[in-house]
Amino acid sequence: MATKQLELHPQVVKFLSSAPKKMLINGEFVSAKSGKTFDTLNPATSEVIVKVCEADKEDIDLAVKAARAAFEGEWKKVTPYKRQQLLMKVADLIEKNAEEFAQLETLDNGKPINESRAVDVPATVEHFRYYAGWATKIHGETLPVSAGNFFTYTLREPIGVVGQIIPWNFPLLMAAWKIAAAIACGNCVVLKPAEQTPLTALRLGELIMEAGFPKGVINICPGFGETAGAALSSHMDVDKVAFTGEYITGRKIIQASAGNLKRVSLELGGKSPNIVFTDGDMEGALRGCIGSVFFNQGQVCCAGTRLFVESKIYDEFINKLSDKVKKIKVGPGLSEESQMGPLVSDEQLKRVTGYLDIGKKEGAKAICGGDRAKDSDLSKGYFVEPTVFANVNNKMRIAQEEIFGPVVSAIPFKDINDAVFQGNETTYGLAAGVWTNDLKKAHAVAKALKAGTVWVNCYNCFDPCTPFGGYKQSGYGREGGIHALELYTQTKSVWINLD
Ligand code: NAP
Ligand code: MG
Repeated sequence: MATKQLELHPQVVKFLSSAPKKMLINGEFVSAKSGKTFDTLNPATSEVIVKVCEADKEDIDLAVKAARAAFEGEWKKVTPYKRQQLLMKVADLIEKNAEEFAQLETLDNGKPINESRAVDVPATVEHFRYYAGWATKIHGETLPVSAGNFFTYTLREPIGVVGQIIPWNFPLLMAAWKIAAAIACGNCVVLKPAEQTPLTALRLGELIMEAGFPKGVINICPGFGETAGAALSSHMDVDKVAFTGEYITGRKIIQASAGNLKRVSLELGGKSPNIVFTDGDMEGALRGCIGSVFFNQGQVCCAGTRLFVESKIYDEFINKLSDKVKKIKVGPGLSEESQMGPLVSDEQLKRVTGYLDIGKKEGAKAICGGDRAKDSDLSKGYFVEPTVFANVNNKMRIAQEEIFGPVVSAIPFKDINDAVFQGNETTYGLAAGVWTNDLKKAHAVAKALKAGTVWVNCYNCFDPCTPFGGYKQSGYGREGGIHALELYTQTKSVWINLD
């Protein structure tokens, strides 16, 4: 039986009624110079939601010019306090339109509406407010030089024009992670959302203008990676590129940045270990494991997709886990009953089902799930079953490659050394989870794991004040907290001769 779905909020209807959706360049919503558009789809039905103007090299050029002009002109005169007020205003406006944003995000990305409402939108608001606070607290220092009679100090200055390229898994929140910190530090930005999910970023653009940002300070140009993304990352007048996405794309970004040696920060993928010891709270670990893997259909960079369970409780744990996972309600994101929505795209569906086949061929056993969703009502969308693979070893492809879907590989371990060894046996190093009630063990494992974030007796906890980023091939640079200010400022030493 078809599940009841939300009727779209009038503001969503209004937003979608003007099409194609235009890009934000120099304070105006404009069409692509080429006149080209692309479709953004509803992943629950594969139907077109709306057409979107497609940025290409020419449009990126215009956006960069606008950002440069703003940076060298009007924006320089804007005080830190005013920057703070502008960011606060954006947060207020998003909050005021929270339901519209939640629905638009769910429509474009597929995620359950309850998650958009509880996570994506409020976390975005919080992020803007957090960095608004920083705008007035970024300063240099005076230095006690011994070289002579000098007054020497540092200035903490913005980098300039920043290109920002984001993925589709948290479209609005990723836009906030990028824009808020860069603006707090006084930069101007050109943001390229992912082609699959451009809508909330474009609506955010409208609110950015409503908040009163000078033209050109924030430009938002949806388009494809190989064209718009490549143009932005190779642009000779972009001073820095901040990227979130796959490690393969990350490499291309580094190569593209070489032309003018622009600064690069990379938030890439993961294959995070989630380690369950016998001495932990099993119920908590089960809940945490489910959250760590199936939240956002598993399309989370830090998802705990390698579940390491101490041998003694391996069978018991995975059986309990699979009983719970079977109960996860898969359905359209716009149904309030859905706990898991569709994957974002047909491409992603093919990738994930491809890995389900690979896992089976490698000898892993899907103790629940393992296929596309069988419900005929879901056949037009990109739905897969939440899947638990048992009989996995850490060398298998399903244990080493990022699937980016609701698939967990359960692997037994002998003892603490084995857990740490296997946990670290990956090219990635984004995050990890540990479940134990033994304090010494918790600290020892947290220290030994090569990962940018370790959660103990919890998972997927986020706060704007905490740094987030990768060890190893999960990237470099840290977003979040005071650390993101490092990404968006540079330091100048000034010497005044007092003799
Ligand atoms: P992706 O394919 O790398 O795409 C990310 C962004 O890069 C998109 O906007 C994409 O545009 C653009 N892009 C693609 N090729 C490009 C090129 N040659 N030059 C410049 N830009 C290019 O990644 P995805 O599949 O969208 O997202 C999933 C990945 O992101 C996963 O690996 C996940 O782990 C990672 N991720 C990491 C974090 C983190 O904080 N560490 C957070 C979220 C996601 P198109 O949309 O047109 O392809
Ligand atoms: Mg879409």
